[in-house]
Amino acid sequence: MKSADARVPQYRPEDAARYRAAGFWGTRTIADELRRAAQATPDASAVVSVEGTLTYRQLDERADRIAAGLHGLGLRPGEPVLFQVNNRYEAILGWYAVLKAGLVPVCTLAQHRKYEIEQISKLTGAVAHLVEAKTPKFDLVEFALDHAREHLTLRHVLAIGDHDENDARARRIETLGADIAPAVARTLVDDIQAQIHAEDVAVFQLSGGTTGVPKLIPRFHAEYWYNAKAWAAALGWDASARVAHLIPIIHNAGIVCALHAAHSVGATVVLGTADMAASAPLLARERVTDILVGHGHYVAAPEVLPSLKGSLKRVILSGAKPSDALFDSVEALGVKVGQLFGMGEGLLTMSRWDAPELARRTTVGTPLSSLDEMKILDPNGLTELPDGTVGELTCKGPYTTPGYFDAQEHNKRAFTPDGFYRTGDLAKIVDIEGTRHLSIEGRIKDLINRGGEKINAEEVELLLGRHPDILEAAVIAMPDERLGERACAYLVSRHEPLSMEQVRQHLETQGLAKFKWPERLEWRKGLPRSNVNKVDKKAMREDIKRLLETEAASR
Ligand code: AMP
Repeated sequence: MKSADARVPQYRPEDAARYRAAGFWGTRTIADELRRAAQATPDASAVVSVEGTLTYRQLDERADRIAAGLHGLGLRPGEPVLFQVNNRYEAILGWYAVLKAGLVPVCTLAQHRKYEIEQISKLTGAVAHLVEAKTPKFDLVEFALDHAREHLTLRHVLAIGDHDENDARARRIETLGADIAPAVARTLVDDIQAQIHAEDVAVFQLSGGTTGVPKLIPRFHAEYWYNAKAWAAALGWDASARVAHLIPIIHNAGIVCALHAAHSVGATVVLGTADMAASAPLLARERVTDILVGHGHYVAAPEVLPSLKGSLKRVILSGAKPSDALFDSVEALGVKVGQLFGMGEGLLTMSRWDAPELARRTTVGTPLSSLDEMKILDPNGLTELPDGTVGELTCKGPYTTPGYFDAQEHNKRAFTPDGFYRTGDLAKIVDIEGTRHLSIEGRIKDLINRGGEKINAEEVELLLGRHPDILEAAVIAMPDERLGERACAYLVSRHEPLSMEQVRQHLETQGLAKFKWPERLEWRKGLPRSNVNKVDKKAMREDIKRLLETEAASR
């Protein structure tokens, strides 16, 4: 999508000029970067999953042909394509094929349902929907077809995965373009890429978001690839790195810190799934050197990581503060241990390997780029706070988005007048041995972080409020040993309290993704309120903590 599109926010010209002058923003598209990698190490493995392996040459050539097939279907550069796929090598084939066709991947999750997909589809005007076929429990192909019937911009349902040859409901992407000669496909891809500017929109990432309506983050070719290259450099990767990724690859962290970063240095991505123990044999067989352990894997990690001893060199913990016990158990494996803090909007910070242990253990390190800028502000205000004081983290830099897509009014609140993104995270800067490190201290945004997946409280409250018997709803985070947090709803009923089953049925009818459904209901006569009559979520969070502690003590 052209950066000149009025819905696409712009970097400030003076900032863009600095990022270019520093050599951070290159002139190639992401598809061209893959081509270069494929030419440098054609026979190295680019991606491995339990379903199979692709070398760089195979990935590049097959993605060329699929891209030509997509073009043959009438899909044109700049048009958005919804992605709802899990971690398997064909998803990567789809990713690069879509980029090679000049199309723009929209990174939704396989778990999203009607409520999310409808809004995102409308916002982007998506023209195609790529789903994984034959997922257990839910038929994404049928879902996509239903959706396409109501959304006239959607012209094609495409599928990857265990798709029956004779299932004509969706185009199978793996065989698309198989009748096109590789050289013809390559020429077409080259022609398409020549029309794309490195500062055009490459990808839409989905924001964890703080409003009831999903927000899309445009990521541009040059800055997105730079982000990945900077990650690979900071970790010290070269072509020998074998990078395991268990959390959804389509998330920003998956694309930047695993897929693109590995491919920027000719390394291999090994795709596991959310089930860390079940993925362990693949990771061990593939002799992975690196793994990003998300919040949802903090409990399993001490059990599983020892099986990777021998090949494992670096472990990055991310999503929440690790306990000392977790940090110690990883360090005991004799590997490098650090932390990552980051967001789809851009900024990534990480522990440097040469930083003192205290810094790696207790902070999320320092920003990835020398041109990243961070300020800790008075929450919701503009006063900058001194180091050591907790405030709202704001940031700007060569891979932090200048704004959300088609959201001018929201952007005025989400960014400071001088262009810093207000993260909604509470943080402070701590000086450790002369270096300023970032420490995350909480958040002001109204989210539940369920094992890394963000649940937007306002969105769920809105949908709960659509039930005729629910008078008021407030959704908060309750602590959870395995996932860090789960959603709990405090509710006021017009009549009798509803059962969990009735609430779930209601949310299913509303089309809300299941991972966002509250996992505990607390019915009250009224919600606690502050002295200015605002719903008091702090009081509810304290209440649920007390209730959980009492329940645990009585067990
Ligand atoms: P997402 O864009 O979905 O990756 O979510 C980004 C948000 O996840 C951040 O703004 C934080 O609220 C949270 N987050 C990410 N990494 C960490 C971390 N290491 N510690 C605490 N919170 C984190």
